[in-house]
Amino acid sequence: MITVRFAPSPTGFLHVGGARTALFNFLFARNQKGKFLLRIEDTDRERSRPEFEKEILDSLKWLGLGWDETPLRQSERISIYQKEAEKLLSGGLAYEEVKEGKRAVIFKMPRREIALTDLLRGEVRFDTRVFEDLVLLKSDGFPTYHWACVVDDEALGVTHVIRGEDHLTNTPKQMLLLEALGWRVPAYAHLPLILGSDGTPLSKRHGAVSVAHYLKEGFLPEGLVNYLALLGWGAEGNREFFTLPELVEKFSLKRLIRSSARFDLEKLRWTNAQHLRALPETDYLRRASDWFQSENLIPAGFPEARLQSALLLFRSRIQTFKDLGVEAPYFFRDVESYDLEAMNRSLGEPGLKEKLLDLKAKFEALPDFGDVVKLEAVLREGAQKTGVEAKVLIHPLRLALTGKGVSPGIFELMKALGKDVCLERLGRLLEKL
Ligand code: GLU
Repeated sequence: MITVRFAPSPTGFLHVGGARTALFNFLFARNQKGKFLLRIEDTDRERSRPEFEKEILDSLKWLGLGWDETPLRQSERISIYQKEAEKLLSGGLAYEEVKEGKRAVIFKMPRREIALTDLLRGEVRFDTRVFEDLVLLKSDGFPTYHWACVVDDEALGVTHVIRGEDHLTNTPKQMLLLEALGWRVPAYAHLPLILGSDGTPLSKRHGAVSVAHYLKEGFLPEGLVNYLALLGWGAEGNREFFTLPELVEKFSLKRLIRSSARFDLEKLRWTNAQHLRALPETDYLRRASDWFQSENLIPAGFPEARLQSALLLFRSRIQTFKDLGVEAPYFFRDVESYDLEAMNRSLGEPGLKEKLLDLKAKFEALPDFGDVVKLEAVLREGAQKTGVEAKVLIHPLRLALTGKGVSPGIFELMKALGKDVCLERLGRLLEKL
């Protein structure tokens, strides 16, 4: 059976590069009806942290990349690595080095040429004469990365190793170990690096790279997964929108792209927006509302109905949930200041105050603001009566309600904010005139 593993080290958060590696392993396994296993490589005792492990697993779950079986934790398998090392020692393929009573086990590097057939880049040859002998067990009894990796790839029955290109030079060493033990050498695919916008490998310098950050920024896991899938893989044709099940169906190692991929936040945002729009309306509302709750962005006592109206009104204008708060803070908070340019543009009409007072009285007479047709009729009537174009009233009204010069359609907006909020805000602007 096709068996792959994702093997994060819990020394940091799950970042974009790791998530893409996990995703490709997951897609390959699910497409091939194989196994997707998880291995926690926590033998670096100084840098590994349980919080990071939890965060990595939570991020994978959030992305929808469920794994098979209980994750294997390397720190619980120390005696196994020690036992396996004895095999190489007794076969004369490794030697001991004892210092101050402590023993390290070291693999005698066979000095020769070795060819690796990478599924992406074809044959890659290495001359192992440039490699040093390889420490397998350190003097504290703990395995090195290479040793634990090789023992566990065998133990898990891994058939395909899909990992980042940064591991390419590790692979010949691991192959030699596998061969020395008479174990099966898996197939390898080394994924090209992900670069930042400036063409250097993606790192913290390029801003946030953790998966959890994108959750906090109001992205959908569907959007992030879709975007990550296209960083180094492409389906036939130019299609760019995929759900996770569609990716599972279409994924193939044959369509991995050899050249490095560039992380483009704008493209990620665009992709996320496509997924926001594709959600059934009730899902969209529930998930957005959950996100606003979990990020504590909803003031106490804030009416759920107003959040829903805002979400619907802005659905086609936002790319992430967070954008709603950025684009339309006036849904969540009172208008505290007015955009200066919009003020200059919209408050110059002679006798504007009287016209707006008159309009306010007319709006007050409506039982509620639930009917946009009625709202529009009232405004147009008021404009006609006072002999001005509708926009002469609409612009100051928008300023009053939003503090801004641009917004969605004013009547939709009035409906969404509700009568009380609208009249109060209009009143506040009038006080300033
Ligand atoms: N723990 C290694 C890493 O995080 C995984 C290496 C591997 O996949 O073999 O890079």
